[in-house]
Amino acid sequence: MENMKIPEVHYFGAIMAPEVAEMHSEPMQETLGPREVLVKMLICNICTNDYQTWQAKRTSKNKFPMASGHEWVGDVVAVGEDVKLFQVGDRVGQCSAGCGECIMCRMGHTEQCMMPKNKGGWAPVNGFYGLRCFSDYKVFRQNQLIKMNKDMPPQLTAFLEPVSTAVAGARKLNAPKGDTVVIIGAGSMGIVNALVYHALGYRVIITELTEKKLARARSMGWAEVIDSKAVDPVQAVKDLTDGIGADAVVPCVGLSSVYAQAQQMIKKHDGKILLFPAGYPEPTMDVDPNEIHYNRAEIIGTYGGEVEDIALAAKLINSGVVDPSFAWEGETFPLYQIQDAYVRAATPDMYRISVDLQKVSED
Ligand SMILES: [Zn+2]
Ligand SMILES: [Zn+2]
Repeated sequence: MENMKIPEVHYFGAIMAPEVAEMHSEPMQETLGPREVLVKMLICNICTNDYQTWQAKRTSKNKFPMASGHEWVGDVVAVGEDVKLFQVGDRVGQCSAGCGECIMCRMGHTEQCMMPKNKGGWAPVNGFYGLRCFSDYKVFRQNQLIKMNKDMPPQLTAFLEPVSTAVAGARKLNAPKGDTVVIIGAGSMGIVNALVYHALGYRVIITELTEKKLARARSMGWAEVIDSKAVDPVQAVKDLTDGIGADAVVPCVGLSSVYAQAQQMIKKHDGKILLFPAGYPEPTMDVDPNEIHYNRAEIIGTYGGEVEDIALAAKLINSGVVDPSFAWEGETFPLYQIQDAYVRAATPDMYRISVDLQKVSED
């Protein structure tokens, strides 16, 4: 199929100030480099990270104007002359934002890319920070992309990044298959984690407080769901595990009280706690080193995902083994109404909200 011509300008969503998001435009590059790919962006979902930035809650990370977004999927519409891995018509997602050339990238650790421009604290381009993935068209290098299933709704394949972070967490947790994993919280990332642990062969128990999320967790059919309003979740986990406690707990809500609960839920010896989320305001955790020592407990951090995690996440989604629809609110906003999308995404108890990146005007 023939290459599409690069549009003269592209449209993108940006957070201009706390609780103010707008659509902007800027000129695009005129020609594709030999290994570059022009992607017609279809959907970008709003991550917790995105709407907490919009709320100016991520105090250490707030930089405006921020043209963020990373949970996207799109179609290849033009390829550079040396692009051999993708062709026009392929559905793609992002498998790395690294340079692909430094030693860290070549080892698969693209989040530790050594290229100065990728080393944290991005410099603004045309006055905007961020990767601009709430965008109708965007150019990528072929080594930043991965194929996604074209027969699935883009709102669901756009879960590639969140699923990859859960896959990365499970890899770091390194618990034997069949172990009991307790997920605290059935919000978007609680559900995504539950889906991944279920797919990877663990027994999954979910604890949750709100009716909407309890119902969502139960609707998956296979999870054991504890209503933390009705019963003491620590006791309920003990009851479900013959008094032993959970092999592992994955808090998916970044609250001090949740971390304290996780410490009570793990089994007496060799229990593991995976610190999956960030919390704002910053939570604290009471850790007694002697207790960790005597109980041989593990407290493990996880953030983001490596290329291997993104590749496995793509397989799980593309094959239907992980069905992200359970973590999707079912609502899609046009790009030109990105402010409304943020308002909705930041409303308590919402699952992932989608932005249709091709809708840049009312007609
Ligand atoms: Zn995300
Ligand atoms: Zn690199």
